[in-house]
Amino acid sequence: MEYWFSENHTKNVKLSIKVDKQLYSDESKYQRIDIFYSPEFGRLLSLDGFLMLTEKDEFIYHEMIVHPAMAVHPNPKNILIIGGGDGGALRELGKYDFIENIDIVEIDGMVIESAKKHLPFTACGFDNDKVNIYLQDGLKFIRKKYNCYDLIIVDSTDPFGVGEGLFTKEFYGNCYNALKDDGILINQHESPFYPEDSIAMQKAHKRISEIFDLAKVYQAHIPTYPSGHWLFGFASKGYHPINDLDSKAWKKREIETKYYTTNLHKGAFMLPKYVEELLKKVEKEDHAFED
Ligand code: SAM
Repeated sequence: MEYWFSENHTKNVKLSIKVDKQLYSDESKYQRIDIFYSPEFGRLLSLDGFLMLTEKDEFIYHEMIVHPAMAVHPNPKNILIIGGGDGGALRELGKYDFIENIDIVEIDGMVIESAKKHLPFTACGFDNDKVNIYLQDGLKFIRKKYNCYDLIIVDSTDPFGVGEGLFTKEFYGNCYNALKDDGILINQHESPFYPEDSIAMQKAHKRISEIFDLAKVYQAHIPTYPSGHWLFGFASKGYHPINDLDSKAWKKREIETKYYTTNLHKGAFMLPKYVEELLKKVEKEDHAFED
């Protein structure tokens, strides 16, 4: 008997991954949490049936949500992650010994517990005494923060269900206030390819670019995400993602990666024409920046 994990990327497109066994399944008050083992991708985490990460390709997503900002901001000491309950972004941040404090605001403690039990390759990120865990809604947590973070990483689920509030203008405005004067906001920014994802991407970009004078988007290829073409937002109160990239200083730190390099960093911001057009369409005229 064969078992397959399937996720609809559109109503006409499905990704199916053969699975040998189910390691975990439970329902928190926020979502259904499932962890499987697959011969091709290793362990998979899905929330409400949506694939969040696989053991084989999560390094791409977690390196790309962390290292571009860390190679641009000259001195990020106080960092906030919203979401990220699997610990993968924490693992990547843990490679920078000069970071003084990392707050992680994850609404669902069961995601953290299940990751610690079954996803050691990402949950190892929690083995860091600089990490403070807040089991709260990121939308509420951020309202009380002003001028305190150098970097905010929104490692969220998609813009519906429990993650919906993390794609609102109110949330992005509160992230702006919570950042220091030269702070950077990085967010999981959906995808340009399928209509539903590209509309979500445009909505997020419109809201972010109305708040941040510099709001760029960069890309990575993530095999198990819808279309494989995934985007991240880079919004900044000061630094430009390419002009202020300090490749030399980043390389000197000898941070171990499998996907990110400072050359790839530059390329990641060079978007396909159709993606540039999708973004320009929603940017306010006075905020449309030249490359
Ligand atoms: N890092 C994974 C990846 O590789 O794509 C996926 C992201 S992580 C699993 C998404 C997390 O965001 C989930 O653990 C979910 O519980 C959390 N989350 C969703 N909405 C949230 C909210 N409003 N506040 C805080 N955390 C939230």
